[in-house]
Amino acid sequence: MIPFNRPLYTGNEDQYVTAAMRSTKMSGDGKFGKLCHSWFEEYLGCAKALLTPSCTHALEMAAILINIQPGDEVIMPSYTFVSTANAFIMRGAKVIFVDVRPDTMNIDETLIEVAITEKTKAIVPVHYAGVACEMDVIMDIATRHGLYVIEDAAQGMMSTYKGKPLGTIGHLGTYSFHETKNYTSGGEGGLLIINDESFVGRAEIIREKGTNRGQFWRGMVDKYTWVDIGSSYLPSELQAAYLYGQLLCADKVNEDRLNTWRSYYHAFASYRDKVELPYIPENCVHNAHMFYIKCKDLDVRTKFIEGMKNQNVMTVFHYVPLHSSPCGQLYGTLSGSDNFTTKESERLVRLPLWGGMLSEERNQVIRAVATVLAEI
Ligand SMILES: *Cc1c(COP(=O)(O)O)cnc(C)c1O
Repeated sequence: MIPFNRPLYTGNEDQYVTAAMRSTKMSGDGKFGKLCHSWFEEYLGCAKALLTPSCTHALEMAAILINIQPGDEVIMPSYTFVSTANAFIMRGAKVIFVDVRPDTMNIDETLIEVAITEKTKAIVPVHYAGVACEMDVIMDIATRHGLYVIEDAAQGMMSTYKGKPLGTIGHLGTYSFHETKNYTSGGEGGLLIINDESFVGRAEIIREKGTNRGQFWRGMVDKYTWVDIGSSYLPSELQAAYLYGQLLCADKVNEDRLNTWRSYYHAFASYRDKVELPYIPENCVHNAHMFYIKCKDLDVRTKFIEGMKNQNVMTVFHYVPLHSSPCGQLYGTLSGSDNFTTKESERLVRLPLWGGMLSEERNQVIRAVATVLAEI
């Protein structure tokens, strides 16, 4: 059986994880935490990059940093992972869901402005499949209305929009290193990207349980004390070491994923009468996070997934729209109408794709798709 995903393992991780295991400091922000931070700050050119235990935690930190208060409204797509919404709801915000564009499955930037009220505090674009949202338009709306932009770039590491890495365009950005993402810090992990420098000091405090321990260690204050709300938003050195091994071959992994993505794209180009293929807008360079196809409707998709299983290939659908979930109905509302979110999400199916996928595995998937599409 070809699985849907294999967590990335390059062989480069072992030496660093072993070193972390044998060091005298295994808690967060040791040698490997600092090496990861430097790598990201150089690659992203951001004010500060901070590892977190997950992207979920990075989003929670972002919600605290922009001072979300009960009653505030936050605009985001309904077609996303629950953490995008949970982070803000836990601070008391109401989530305003906006429909997606059918071509990229990203928030429809033309529907954002009508969703803004005097309570709106932030826009959270989600770069689905590592393909950028229309960030120039979103940043312009945010600037004119005095809103924060937090990019959920969980799937977006190594992708760019007009040459800028995803996560570096808004005030804050987040990455995920969960095992299903392009790079992993050993199963779980994340990153908070700080582009607006004014957030740096407080972010370090929130991440250290609300204490100024970071400043204390750097000799900036002579007492280590409790100064703000916070939590334990540091991953261990084992996670940082695992990730560091992958960062050193990030480009190679990215190229490898793109090769698989391109093989799929070329192989399926002749089935355009039966399925829709992904669309990459001109200003976007993507990272092959995902290869999805869209079937005619839910019924055909169900048959496709079943057929692929019979060919020993695991394929999976993705998000159930948040606005139709019990929690989404309790804490959020849909602005405007659901023209595409539900309909398009019901058609979408993801194919196996991971860094280091063998060409035999890739070919088996391609053959299986050909067989199944011939039957349905
Ligand atoms: C994976 C993902 C998350 C959550 O990431 P974790 O690291 O598992 O917390 C959030 N948002 C999006 C869009 C994701 O794809």
